[in-house]
Amino acid sequence: MTLRSFEIVGKVSKGVITVTLNGTEMAAFDLEGRVLYYGKDSSTYRRSIYNKVYRLEWIRKEDRIVERVADPQPILRRAYEIAQETCHNVTDISLKTALETPASRTVSWLAEDAKRAAELYKPISIVPPDLYFSTYLQLTTGCPWNKCSFCNLYGNTGYSVKSSDQFSNHIQAVKEYLGKGIEARKTIFLGDANAIGVSRKFLKQIFFEIAKEFDHPSVYSFVDAFTTPRNLQRNDLEDLHNLGLARVYLGLESGEEQVLKILNKPMELLEARNFVLEIKKAGVNVGIIILVGAGGNSFWKGHVKRSVAFLTEINLGHGDIVYLSPLVENKSYSELAQSLELGILSGVEKEKQSQEFQEELKGVIDCPVSRYDIRESFVS
Ligand code: SF4
Repeated sequence: MTLRSFEIVGKVSKGVITVTLNGTEMAAFDLEGRVLYYGKDSSTYRRSIYNKVYRLEWIRKEDRIVERVADPQPILRRAYEIAQETCHNVTDISLKTALETPASRTVSWLAEDAKRAAELYKPISIVPPDLYFSTYLQLTTGCPWNKCSFCNLYGNTGYSVKSSDQFSNHIQAVKEYLGKGIEARKTIFLGDANAIGVSRKFLKQIFFEIAKEFDHPSVYSFVDAFTTPRNLQRNDLEDLHNLGLARVYLGLESGEEQVLKILNKPMELLEARNFVLEIKKAGVNVGIIILVGAGGNSFWKGHVKRSVAFLTEINLGHGDIVYLSPLVENKSYSELAQSLELGILSGVEKEKQSQEFQEELKGVIDCPVSRYDIRESFVS
């Protein structure tokens, strides 16, 4: 059977070439021909820049599969077959032209591309869900605190900061590596954890450099609310906003002090609240992350009530977002929960708590409330 008997739907939009066959199989590529996604039936396969492929699928509302595919080659090969067959058969000239690059690529080319990415970046542990396809600039590696009881993100990766020269070279190398693929990555994520926590003078230099190298950049970053408020005042945030800082993501985790203690997050809620208000007054948006299930059964009520109270006090509005992130219990948190008899929430209970958050926040805050599954936040 030839593809002429298939229904082909394709488009090129915002630097991404997408092809769907018969409504059951799809593949997406950047303009350099990198496979971004392959989808079949209800499964989506996402490729990381290190060439790992993960299968993502909803089983039930509270149950999402996120699993690394042991042998990604057949998936990647099939994505390229789709590009080749579609390129050969499609009549839309602009789509055909765009598909010539992915149609000429191979899985070996992807493996080589991944080696270039691995030379450029230390492993990237996490990005917010709306930034999986951003241009990642790694100013810092690791987390300067790295002691939260529930967090394994950076493990033994020490904290380090690039020098100004190293960062300039890094930008050039990232641009060269991405090539035309940068078209699919219009936003810039400045990583890793709390990258904007470096000294204000150095940070402004970094933002000048970004503004010089990218046309009207939109820059995003994680922020903490226990060291950064002492480093950045409102006028600094305004300067950064003028240079492109669009939104910062704060892992609040909980508005309940006792839960924060259990999580070993050294954050004063009043300072965090005032800092968020200053960030917003400077014109920068915020993404606030709440850890669903934190504090277990023991703190369910207080965690929901006080987190909602915090969220209602920070003037959330257009451009802001609240993320509900189900806690993935690691060994140290599980042991702590057991010793404190907190009780660990099941997947169904976490879904129930998420629903409770959604209900409590409905009509009370004026911004979207979304799910954030950190198992999906891989980039490398
Ligand atoms: S949760 Fe954030 S602040 Fe805490 S250790 Fe992990 S990266 Fe660092």
